Amino acid sequence: MGFSLSRLLSNDIGIDLGTANTLVYVKGQGIVVNEPSIVALDKHSRKPIAIGTPAKEMLGRENPDIEVVRPLRDGVIADFEVTEEMLRFFIKKVQRNKLLVRPRIVICVPSGVTAVEMRAVRESAERAGAREVYLIKEPMAAAIGIGLPVDEPIGSMVIDIGGGTTEIAVMALSGIVTWRSVKTAGDELNEAIIQFLKRKHSLLVGERSAEQIKCAIGTAGVQDQELQHTCRGLDLVSSIPKTIVVDSSEIREALSEQVDTIIDAVRQTLEQTPPELAADILDRGIIMTGGGALLRGLDRRLVEETSLPVIVAEDPLTCVVRGTGKVLENIGAFQKVLM
Ligand code: ADP
Ligand code: MG
Repeated sequence: MGFSLSRLLSNDIGIDLGTANTLVYVKGQGIVVNEPSIVALDKHSRKPIAIGTPAKEMLGRENPDIEVVRPLRDGVIADFEVTEEMLRFFIKKVQRNKLLVRPRIVICVPSGVTAVEMRAVRESAERAGAREVYLIKEPMAAAIGIGLPVDEPIGSMVIDIGGGTTEIAVMALSGIVTWRSVKTAGDELNEAIIQFLKRKHSLLVGERSAEQIKCAIGTAGVQDQELQHTCRGLDLVSSIPKTIVVDSSEIREALSEQVDTIIDAVRQTLEQTPPELAADILDRGIIMTGGGALLRGLDRRLVEETSLPVIVAEDPLTCVVRGTGKVLENIGAFQKVLM
């Protein structure tokens, strides 16, 4: 074992560059950044004025000089420059006291990523300060984060429901065997709530309020007890602010189409799964990760629709970044899952 100056001076980091949230894991420290993937820009100079949590506060509250963007909307990098600025900011934040040596970075990409997108992420991370960049597919990172035996001849199935995409993957022997990615995830659920309130209650609400309603009373299946939530917005008829109380049964109706799309995608993935692996999944269950896994009753709906055991991972929002952390701690052992 040689003495390595670079190891002493650099902090290797793992990044979950999500469409909704970016998380950063620093080797030896754990998760040190967990912030929305949102950037507020000065409209004239295009320079960022806020990144992460403070930028989310500005969402829907912009003025003519400020534009708030989500550079990874819809599960792809919609704005490369802004994504890179954001990456650079978070990398700098965790590297504050480290001098000299640039970090090695393990970073996640969606499973359906194209070669062009892959190169773009790699180059962004390099320009943002990485010495070496390793890419890993998101569902693989999630599975490693949960501790599933992805390197063994055993099938593991993960459903990761994020902001922009739902990624479903069956893995075995360090590879992804079948997968599916649909653009129906948290953002579309929010949009469905916005449309529903407009149609049924003539109430206009913003993206943030819709998300709050979803997290407070959103459900995918019938609940033992229905919940109520007070919503504030703009009356479409009188154009003045108003308050209404909505019931969780209404929101369930609003979300039903999107929930069905997610369930169909799971079914289709299962249909394409080789029988031996399907048998493993029957024994071991399907694991749900990502913020969308927290939607009430979705696990139960999936059990009903697939007749398989379904488990919501512990702390579903951090599985992917914890996976990158495990890879960092032992890059040699995970060579096969890196791209
Ligand atoms: P990404 O990986 O795309 O950044 P995340 O895994 O961080 O996404 O999940 C973010 C999504 O999860 C958002 O759309 C958010 O609204 C949703 N979410 C978070 N908590 C809940 C909850 N309790 N119920 C339903 N959705 C939730
Ligand atoms: Mg994610």
